[in-house]
Amino acid sequence: MKTLLSSEDGAGDAGLNTVAVHAGERPDPVTKASSPNLVMSSTFLADPDASFSAEGSHGDDAYFYTRWANPTVYQLEEKLAAMERAEAAMAFASGMAAVHALFFHCLRPGDHLLLGDVVYAAVSEMANDLLSELGIEVSRVDSSEISEVRNAIRENTRLVYIETPCNPLLRLTDIAAVAEIARSAGARLAVDSTFATPVATQPLKLGADFVIHSLTKYMGGHGDAVGGALLGPEKDIAEVRRKAGIRMGGVISPFNAWLILRGMATLPLRMRAHESAAIVVGKFLEDHPAVMHVTYPGFDSHPQHDLAKRQMANFSGMLTFQAARHSELPRIFAKELQVIHYAVSLGHHRSLIFYIPTDEILETSFSLTPEQEERYRDFAGDAIFRLSVGIEDPKDLCADLERAFAKLT
Ligand SMILES: *Cc1c(COP(=O)(O)O)cnc(C)c1O
Repeated sequence: MKTLLSSEDGAGDAGLNTVAVHAGERPDPVTKASSPNLVMSSTFLADPDASFSAEGSHGDDAYFYTRWANPTVYQLEEKLAAMERAEAAMAFASGMAAVHALFFHCLRPGDHLLLGDVVYAAVSEMANDLLSELGIEVSRVDSSEISEVRNAIRENTRLVYIETPCNPLLRLTDIAAVAEIARSAGARLAVDSTFATPVATQPLKLGADFVIHSLTKYMGGHGDAVGGALLGPEKDIAEVRRKAGIRMGGVISPFNAWLILRGMATLPLRMRAHESAAIVVGKFLEDHPAVMHVTYPGFDSHPQHDLAKRQMANFSGMLTFQAARHSELPRIFAKELQVIHYAVSLGHHRSLIFYIPTDEILETSFSLTPEQEERYRDFAGDAIFRLSVGIEDPKDLCADLERAFAKLT
């Protein structure tokens, strides 16, 4: 039976809804099962004539050992590549494992990494500690300012790494503009697209070399599996698979791959629901007397709303808000909210809220210039609440927040 495999196989013509459901999946040739099998086997019957170090083996025919490749993980990787219109994808045990694999692939002592000034906290911390210890130069740039990106590029810049929208500020970066600067400097551009998902933005089409996803978030979408992905040119991904997968070993469990594969089939549907709920909840918050400011790329109050309209086909379900009596609210939210969970993470079907005080995150995670800190404060004030709006009925989310705010006496 013919199936929709990857962009080269015709998924390029199919719509994203169809790709999400079908890409990477095929009926089991033995049982004729219509849905993907979960193959938990760590090893596979070997060809006695093949060499022990079958490093090249990946794909349908030559499974060997699950750290090399696994049929269920392979199906997930095919779906990921088709949805991002990438040549190749590799799945990892977590988003951070994917980021680490990218850094080890692109950077050597003496090289320079140009990092967005506000990126996922653990990525920033890895750059502060580990990369510096390895003799890799790291500097940070507010990538929403294109002229600053141009000025920050150095002769030895090998990799530019950004997030858009960035976690937790929801500030955006013009991917096409940064890609052009990186390319003319001989550097590669990686975009962490966890907040956008391929439903909103496809960074490779805009000129990026690599895309990173925390599959734990929207891609899996149900809060029950940790995973990550790196997508890019076949040649790079094959090398990453050899080094970061086979040698360093941060591969994803087939069970998690199977859960995420299943979650991804409904990604386009879920993103529409997240977006429409976020608009309702965001408007409710904007009108609420306890709230000072709401940041959401889909609102024209967002300073980069024009870029959001150009670069995002869906505004996603992430919003932040500032509140006058912010320090009293975390305890109230944790105790009083009945629908929304007070917890980290995001992109789940279930709404999640978390408190991020500005002084604390600037101190523990980032290493910014005073001017960059000022710009962080422009977006976040003294503290933000990051709200990942789920796919519940928006009226129930608003009522839940209203109930909690009412306890602010
Ligand atoms: C969560 C997250 C990561 C890290 O992913 P894990 O799966 O938790 O390792 C990286 N980038 C962004 C933007 C994230 O939100």
